[in-house]
Amino acid sequence: MKPTDLIVIGAGVAGIVAAKRAQAAGLSSAVMEPLFFGGLIVNVNELDGPVHGSGAEYAASLMSAACDLGADSVSAKVTALEPSQAGFVVTTDAASHSARAVIVASGAAIRRLGVPGEDEFEGKGVSRCADCDGPLFTGEEVVVVGGGDSAVQEAIALAAYARRVHVVHRGEAFRARGHLVERLGALKNVATHWRTRVQAIRGADVVQAVEIVVADGTSGQIACGGVFPYIGLQPECDFVPSAVTRDKGGYLVTDASLRTAVPGLFAAGVVRAGNGGTIADAEADADAAVRSAVAFLRT
Ligand code: NAP
Repeated sequence: MKPTDLIVIGAGVAGIVAAKRAQAAGLSSAVMEPLFFGGLIVNVNELDGPVHGSGAEYAASLMSAACDLGADSVSAKVTALEPSQAGFVVTTDAASHSARAVIVASGAAIRRLGVPGEDEFEGKGVSRCADCDGPLFTGEEVVVVGGGDSAVQEAIALAAYARRVHVVHRGEAFRARGHLVERLGALKNVATHWRTRVQAIRGADVVQAVEIVVADGTSGQIACGGVFPYIGLQPECDFVPSAVTRDKGGYLVTDASLRTAVPGLFAAGVVRAGNGGTIADAEADADAAVRSAVAFLRT
């Protein structure tokens, strides 16, 4: 691939919108993603907020607009990112690419619980996509772990299929936004287990139960066919040079203009410390990062 003004690493909402804005601002851009474009929202059948429809439809409309404006879409996994004389060399599992500036928008993966049975029963009852796998649990008991927007949103999605959804949360209150908590509270087939942790996932060929322990020390089991852990995100930025500061969660630290500590390298979307995690936040980050990249390339 010929040298590009801007490489955007990651084709979630922040990455695709950044490529689109870069093209509109007169930069040549390429957006790189190893799997499907869209990031975590492609798992959402019904977006909540100002954008309607499914996450996949929304991502497809953004990507098509970016490509119509001339952005390149590169299907490859970035393995290294290094400053060079001309800007940056971005190495993927397929080739090396050069760019004058880079926006890291590589997002985050859903964190693992790290309990016995989680790996063993992945795809055999343990799932990270309620909208994709919910119908498989029609009429069954399922467990959702966590208390943030993801857990509450996915518990609502699962309640349309499951006989009962057990939300297991270590805290005493949800941190999810109020309108999601209200929708969950209105559902008759949802039971919340407060101050409770999942200790292990048990089963034979497929999941049959989770072992739980409550903060007062009591323990027990919840019989279930499915377990959906939504306990937060793990930023995906191992390839980013160590000169870029991380916060204690591993998220990339930027200034208010989304510049990292490395000149010409910007961060946008959930991989960035302080990003709010909504579609509007991703789009605002994309705008700000492209504005800063344009200013950097014009100096
Ligand atoms: P999150 O906001 O970080 O919440 C993680 C939840 O998991 C918290 O309730 C936390 O408990 C719990 N938790 C963390 N570690 C745990 C552990 N080891 N064991 C048990 N529970 C644990 O993560 P998220 O819900 O995935 O959301 C991530 C970001 O995406 C947020 O910014 C969110 O707003 C955004 N998001 C937005 C939408 C939307 O716009 N519709 C949907 C989904 C996510 P404590 O509360 O006790 O800390």
